[in-house]
Amino acid sequence: MSPQAFWQISYLIAAILITLSIKWLNSPTTARRGVRAGQIGMLFAVVGTLLRHEVVSYEWIVVGMVVGSAIGAPLAFLMPMTAVPQLTALSHAFGALAAALVGTAEYYQHQPHGFRMFALVVETLLGYLTFTASVMAFAKLQELVPTRPVTYRGQNVVNLSLLGIAVALGAWTIEGSAPGWAFPAFSLLALLFGVLLIIPIGGGDMPTVIALLNSYAGMAAAAMGFALNNKLLIIAGALNAASGFILSVLMCKAMNRSFTNVLFGAFGQAQEGSTTAAQQRPVRSASPEDAAAILAAARKVIVVPGYGMAVAQAQHKIRELTDQLVKRGVDVQFAIHPVAGRMPGHMNVLLAEADISYERLHEMEEINSEFSEADVALVIGANDVVNPAARHDTSSPIYGMPILDVDKAQTVMVIKRSLNPGFAGIDNELYYSDRTLMLFGDAKQFVAEIVKQLPKVA
Ligand code: NDP
Repeated sequence: MSPQAFWQISYLIAAILITLSIKWLNSPTTARRGVRAGQIGMLFAVVGTLLRHEVVSYEWIVVGMVVGSAIGAPLAFLMPMTAVPQLTALSHAFGALAAALVGTAEYYQHQPHGFRMFALVVETLLGYLTFTASVMAFAKLQELVPTRPVTYRGQNVVNLSLLGIAVALGAWTIEGSAPGWAFPAFSLLALLFGVLLIIPIGGGDMPTVIALLNSYAGMAAAAMGFALNNKLLIIAGALNAASGFILSVLMCKAMNRSFTNVLFGAFGQAQEGSTTAAQQRPVRSASPEDAAAILAAARKVIVVPGYGMAVAQAQHKIRELTDQLVKRGVDVQFAIHPVAGRMPGHMNVLLAEADISYERLHEMEEINSEFSEADVALVIGANDVVNPAARHDTSSPIYGMPILDVDKAQTVMVIKRSLNPGFAGIDNELYYSDRTLMLFGDAKQFVAEIVKQLPKVA
């Protein structure tokens, strides 16, 4: 088989595998297969590309692969699960930078015309702005820069004007009569716009913004595919762009927020006054012994994990607790809110890591009606996703967000360290209900204590 035929077949296999990968990633039961398919698809794409006759120097490609692996492998192995949003931001930054640099090299080497120049300008604009925006998103999530939203008067006008000038310079470049300084100025403005886009957004909203940046990086890659006449890049980029966009829409919907609210809403700043006042209200608390006795006597328990489970890395202890309760004949199910934690699928990934059966995991719409039949709703490190204020308090920042109806269970037990608010910075009236018992402590330690206190069964 000629190298030409070989790379074309490799690209075809890669395109099929990458498409199937997205489909399989849709459900926890097929997600592992989806990841494998994506990895093998990428391998075919890379090998196919290396066989193309346009390759001029394998030495430089090897240097690039060594440097890339030296950065990528430690990042993948050393970053903890709670830091996956940052890691995702960094990988978008690198992908977008690659697209922008390829566009810049094409511009200076080949000066294409017409539609290919249009694609090149789109690729470079999106590539550079996604690069700096993703680096800023990483820095905010990693708390290397202040995470609070930074806003000032006329900010949107300044930002949109800068983008407008960049687009005008890009149009001039496509038209063909632009002077030599136009393309570097266009690139610099795109880089600057990326930084300014992220400054007014709070650190907590970064996961939603990262999904949007994922979409931009995909569009940059698809545009690169048009500029280079590479069909695989067009397919993979378009899939990336569409899935990133759909994900960010779903996240906004699950939080009952609009894009404008996420991008310009300065959300997630703690409302100090209300929290302090509310914390003076009495709550009922209980010990691990009490909790163990209540759970052991229950017929049906619904566990609701949240961000605190991820922070405490309590999933393995929760698995032990589940096993013990199931042995006693208790029906244990898990209710997963679409935005529990700090990234989509956060809870599913952690519970899968602890080998908790997928059959026990239920999405919000599926399980909400079952809380009224549950003896216990065991909330572990979740807060906003179970806050009843979302249903009735029109002044609440989470008003309208669909929540898990834990307050309908006979008894609600909440494991968290204090009465402090969660991501939305607001108090939770659930804690003061007659049905609620607060179990104060670190999620992992508290669950471990409950397991110890449960009378063992053979
Ligand atoms: P929250 O952020 O509302 O609450 C988490 C709670 O966990 C805190 O109140 C904290 O209380 C507790 N906690 C922290 N560490 C520990 C620990 N070691 N042990 C026990 N508890 C702990 O989380 P939810 O999952 O309920 O809600 C997610 C929020 O994040 C929503 O507002 C959602 O809109 C937002 N969001 C989600 C995204 C996603 O894709 N999943 C993306 C962007 C935003 P204490 O300090 O008292 O222990």
